[in-house]
Amino acid sequence: MSNEDFEIPEDKKKAESRIKELRKEIRYHNRKYFVDNQPEISDYEYDQLVRELEVLEEAYPQFITEDSPTQRIGSEEIEEFKTIEHKVVMLSLDKAYNYEELKEFDERVKKRWKDKEIEYVVETKIDGLGVALYYENKSLKRAATRGDGARGEDITPNVKTIKSVPLRLSDDSILNTAEFRGEVFMPRNAFDEMNEERIKKGQEPFANPRNATAGTMRTKDPQIVAKRPLDIFIYTLSYYENGAFTTHVKTLEEMKKAGLKINKFEVFKGIDNVITYLEEYQEKKDQLDYEIDGMVLKVNNLEAHDILGYTTHHPRWAIAYKYPPTRKTTKIQDIEIMVGRTGKLTPVAILDPIQLSGTTVSRASLHNENEIQRKDIRVGDTVLVEKAGEIIPQVVKVIKEKRDGSERKFEMPTKCPICGSSAKKIGSDIIRRCVNAQCPAQVKQRIEHWGDREAMDIDGLGTMLVNKLVEEGLAKNVADLYELDLNELKKIERMGKKSSMNLLNNIKESKDRELPRVLYGIGIPYVGQHIARVLAENFKNIDNIINASKAKFEKIDEIGPQIAESVVSFFEEEKNKELINRLKDHGVRMSIEEEEREQFLEGKKFVFTGALEKYTRDEASEKVRQYGGRATSSVSSATDFLVVGKNPGSKLAEAKKEGTKILNEKEFLDMLETKKLPEN
Ligand SMILES: [Zn+2]
Repeated sequence: MSNEDFEIPEDKKKAESRIKELRKEIRYHNRKYFVDNQPEISDYEYDQLVRELEVLEEAYPQFITEDSPTQRIGSEEIEEFKTIEHKVVMLSLDKAYNYEELKEFDERVKKRWKDKEIEYVVETKIDGLGVALYYENKSLKRAATRGDGARGEDITPNVKTIKSVPLRLSDDSILNTAEFRGEVFMPRNAFDEMNEERIKKGQEPFANPRNATAGTMRTKDPQIVAKRPLDIFIYTLSYYENGAFTTHVKTLEEMKKAGLKINKFEVFKGIDNVITYLEEYQEKKDQLDYEIDGMVLKVNNLEAHDILGYTTHHPRWAIAYKYPPTRKTTKIQDIEIMVGRTGKLTPVAILDPIQLSGTTVSRASLHNENEIQRKDIRVGDTVLVEKAGEIIPQVVKVIKEKRDGSERKFEMPTKCPICGSSAKKIGSDIIRRCVNAQCPAQVKQRIEHWGDREAMDIDGLGTMLVNKLVEEGLAKNVADLYELDLNELKKIERMGKKSSMNLLNNIKESKDRELPRVLYGIGIPYVGQHIARVLAENFKNIDNIINASKAKFEKIDEIGPQIAESVVSFFEEEKNKELINRLKDHGVRMSIEEEEREQFLEGKKFVFTGALEKYTRDEASEKVRQYGGRATSSVSSATDFLVVGKNPGSKLAEAKKEGTKILNEKEFLDMLETKKLPEN
């Protein structure tokens, strides 16, 4: 969309008031959509509002505020997570594992507090990452992890990307400067979808939503964080400068008014009513769209909080109740091997079907052979199966008393059950992997990876088309792509003449990609983009790589024994050599052509800040490397150039201080084009 679609007022005052109006409107709809789950306008209308605000702010940057809805996703990477002190120490909760322990807790409360029947607020205990959000004059100032309770890590840029976190508290609320506690989490459905997507792209799936959340929050690029489906529930007002509250429920209501996302809660008089509720909830909890690891009870009366106080570790007015995991015994009929899309061999127990927390369970992952040995799992064993927080049921242990001697020990195969190639453990790996680049179990993922932007960059070779090509038998490996013809392609559903011709042309063009892309694209375990480049630069062509010994690889600085072994065993596989030969025959470039480019940036160090229009940060860094320069992440006295894009960060000020030469995007592109360093 072009800027002309919105009117940009000439008058500064008018612009400022329209900007304020837009922010207010966007905040309102943001809240309706992401917090209250009751959208009032279409996504399109919402996007239009945001777009208009962006256009106005671009024209009048002096009116940008840090809590503007346009400032959610920073373009700057986080260099390191700074430690910050919490306004109030974040203690963990004491835990109860059965109702008896809850009654004892209730007795302790009653002893110190006058009420005979305590009023409790009961909330779910979400299994995510605890955070503290600090607002100053209604603006989100910082967000931190729990850390050791006194100090946590500053993850503000990441938390800002979560759409249900308001950047500014509502004007209706009396809360102004305050600190809140909450839990960042990933909803189950969104987690499953994200993992599907990762598997398709050949990335490692996350083990569970909790790990995914914690890992995401420690990601240094807010742009990546913004793409992950994170959500938040706020449950405590830990510090405030305005207002006075008598009960926990009143603070929850006020936080809701302030625009924060509050989870459902229930209030009960007396511990017996709480226990009845917990019992009822046991079944319901599996239907929630997020994982919980129990329930939290808090005394509602805030005066009681002051009187009850704290132990050194826990508040005395709250406790977490942990539900026992659902477990049942069943029999292992067989152990099968699954070959994943990335070539991993995973043993799976085939079980006599049982009902576990609402679902039928007939398979359980046994993870790897070490796990089978450690638990001494045999075919025919009676085992205890558990379905706790995790989505995949687990075999907890073998009931050895039930053995009758007919059980069979399981041997992990050393060959891929799908293609018969050898399945090896590389270096310190505990899993076996089929390294055959033509393995039918992996073919879809491998072809898609080959076409990735970072690999051979074949436009149009998306998931759907790859699936079709494989299912129609048109491609069994990446070399087959170079033998596709127009008539075959046209037969595929929705492939017209034009798109077929485009695709064939893009495939043809990919033959001229550089060797590092070929090495990355072919999918050698542990060889990412960077290592692919290191290999290419050190060995110059594919034959040198195929013929090199493990020792020769290990002589290179950045290549450890694991990578060395992986590369050697990849090229030991005849089918892989055969594939390389076919690619060669089709004219795919397999060597670095030396002195192809002037190394006019030799020894020059570049730092980027803000977003460039033409290139992503990675692409721009690669350009610099191609011409012999280096791209680093922080400005120092050794930095030669700072390239400044849109919305530059703090690096600009640092560069000015260091006296670093500053280039705008146009100057940077001109430099690449003319292959001359800019004059002073
Ligand atoms: Zn295989």
